[in-house]
Amino acid sequence: MSATTFDIINPATEEFLQTVDLASLAETDALIARAAAAFETWRNVSPSDRALLLRRFAAAVDADLENLAQLEVRNAGHTIGNARWEAGNARDVISYYSAAPERHFGRQIPVAGGLDVTFHEPLGVVGIIVPWNFPMPIAAWGFAPALAAGNTVVLKPAELTPLTAMRLGELAREAGLPDGVLTIIPGKGSVVGARFVTHPAVRKVVFTGSTGVGKQIMAGCADQVKRVTLELGGKSANIVFADADLEAAAAAAPGGAFDNAGQDCCARSRILVEKSAYDSFLELLEPAVRAVKVGDPADESTVMGPLISARQRETVAGFVPSGAPIAFQGDVPEGPGFWFPPTVLAPDSFDDPAVREEIFGPVVVVVPFNDEADAVRIANDTEYGLSGSIWTQDIGRALRVARGVEAGNLSVNSHSSVRYSTPFGGFKQSGLGRELGPDALDSFSDVKNVFIAH
Ligand code: NAD
Repeated sequence: MSATTFDIINPATEEFLQTVDLASLAETDALIARAAAAFETWRNVSPSDRALLLRRFAAAVDADLENLAQLEVRNAGHTIGNARWEAGNARDVISYYSAAPERHFGRQIPVAGGLDVTFHEPLGVVGIIVPWNFPMPIAAWGFAPALAAGNTVVLKPAELTPLTAMRLGELAREAGLPDGVLTIIPGKGSVVGARFVTHPAVRKVVFTGSTGVGKQIMAGCADQVKRVTLELGGKSANIVFADADLEAAAAAAPGGAFDNAGQDCCARSRILVEKSAYDSFLELLEPAVRAVKVGDPADESTVMGPLISARQRETVAGFVPSGAPIAFQGDVPEGPGFWFPPTVLAPDSFDDPAVREEIFGPVVVVVPFNDEADAVRIANDTEYGLSGSIWTQDIGRALRVARGVEAGNLSVNSHSSVRYSTPFGGFKQSGLGRELGPDALDSFSDVKNVFIAH
């Protein structure tokens, strides 16, 4: 490995997979210039042809689904079931937005003295910066609506997980998207990502990653009043009321916390349980956690794979020092691989870092609460506000609590956060703007108002 290359490692085996070239600043500038030139053509491609090309792109992803999924298993250590869902999600997002070129239209507004119409004008080149935890979906959530709205895209995958994004770029070209319309630029955040922020031809930055880097990106974009969408960290609450179907809530809790080995911005990493049900809930939760099968992500029966890197494992282990209040813990395989066991902590203080900070690993805390108001207060006692779940059989309570929790994505009697047709994004320091659904299209265009006197 040199300063201009990166060695990709399989996190489940620690085996070397391949070397990827990292783009230099000069190469990044050249690719941004090509994307800016391609914008002049792409914005004028007829809506029906743009729609057709995006449909062909979705079909190419569909035909390559199993290959993309297997690639993600090797590169990111995702379980094969999850990886298939992720590749399918990327396909569905492209397919969903392929309808947009012909349907995202402006308004005619009644005014005196003439005709007034609005247009959704594309922005130009959009720079997308992707983290390592969900490489395919997060890439597609950015590029699909951006392309549909008439922009061209430069996309930087995370250093650790560039392979599926690079393959999506190849599939776009094979499907007939013109050169420069979607360019994948593997590289360092400090070089390629930072250049998206400063380059004047990049008119918008979409950043998904840590809140710390997100703040730097937002500050950098202010200099050019550059548009920005931020999808940042989370510390989401899973609120279990005593009147809930406790068996269902306990069976679902490990999935909400440990999916993708907890490396999920929406992980329900704080389980808040009403005091009167606390002991019985924990009794149900323990066997559910012990049943989480950790191991080879290519094995169809595996529930949880490894962490992405040795460094990530070290960070996660820092939240579980010796003497930590472990309620119970699952098992991990022997041998190579960046494993960490599913772990449930029962801290007695709200100041424990495991209660307050995003861990991004398979560690969840359980915290008792007194009543509805107390549950909402504890859920909101965080700088984050991405998602959350409410388990209760009382529909009125479900709605009151959903309205009370300061987060962008709530689910009742479920941990589902993502549907490509509904908006996704954070409150407070979890982000700015919305991806997916109809909202994303507006964020990739500026409204122009034209008045014609008569
Ligand atoms: P990270 O912030 O370290 O890196 C994210 C991306 O930004 C990478 O591609 C990295 O190369 C790039 N980058 C780093 N420094 C940069 C800089 N100075 N300028 C421009 N780009 C730079 O995050 P990560 O460790 O890859 O991902 C984990 C984080 O992402 C977690 O906090 C998680 O919650 C968050 N996340 C949020 C969402 C969401 O939708 N809200 C989704 C997934 C992950």
